[in-house]
Amino acid sequence: MNEVQVNRRYARQIAIPQIGVAGQARLQTARVLVIGAGGLGSPALFYLAAAGVGTLGIADDDLLSSTNLNRQILYTPAGIGRNKVEQAARRLRAFNPEITIIPHIMRVSRANGPALIADYDLVVEATDNLASKALINELCVRARVPLVWAGVQRFEGQLSVVLPGHACRRCIFPELPEPGSQQSPAELGIIGATAGVIGTLQALEALKVLLGIGTPLVDQLLLWDGLHHSFEKIQVTRTANCPHCGQNEE
Ligand SMILES: [Zn+2]
Repeated sequence: MNEVQVNRRYARQIAIPQIGVAGQARLQTARVLVIGAGGLGSPALFYLAAAGVGTLGIADDDLLSSTNLNRQILYTPAGIGRNKVEQAARRLRAFNPEITIIPHIMRVSRANGPALIADYDLVVEATDNLASKALINELCVRARVPLVWAGVQRFEGQLSVVLPGHACRRCIFPELPEPGSQQSPAELGIIGATAGVIGTLQALEALKVLLGIGTPLVDQLLLWDGLHHSFEKIQVTRTANCPHCGQNEE
């Protein structure tokens, strides 16, 4: 690998005092898993790849549908009906050949999730359903792997960061979703720019955690309303009796 070329690619971010050459080297050794290669995963993966995160895993088992294309900017109509993860890997390798992209064609489950997550430094949860969000939170807390999770619908999004010893997603949403109770993206609707804003913020939060800079959204929930443009941060506290992160469990 040509050192000069690499540095030129990242020159504009190495110029930032909080990153520098040392921070860039840290990103190059980092391993980030993005679960969900859809509306949130597309911008999150692009900006993590752009920043030079050395290893990016992508886990998803969906095939591309034409209805995905209003927000899932990794893809083109040529890929409709084909596996998303492989197309995403090809697109990201072309975008940044300096990094390693690992496709995982799988739906993360209680059975296969722990071994997958244990292989990464940080997880970006970018799925579109509450059951997966709850499960990925649980698996990351148990593995003590930092998690950046988010959710979007219509013109609204929410985002938070879970680090070991801090409030997890279950502390915020103690009730597990009833099977079949959640309205699907097809019913609720989503505009691509909403996923773009929140997925991009997920990438930024992941980079902050990897670099150990700034104030990540730990013990905080960000609520974004794009239609009326408000950003609201809500303080959240770790629940002592949380089944995942509570003191009673450690
Ligand atoms: Zn918790």
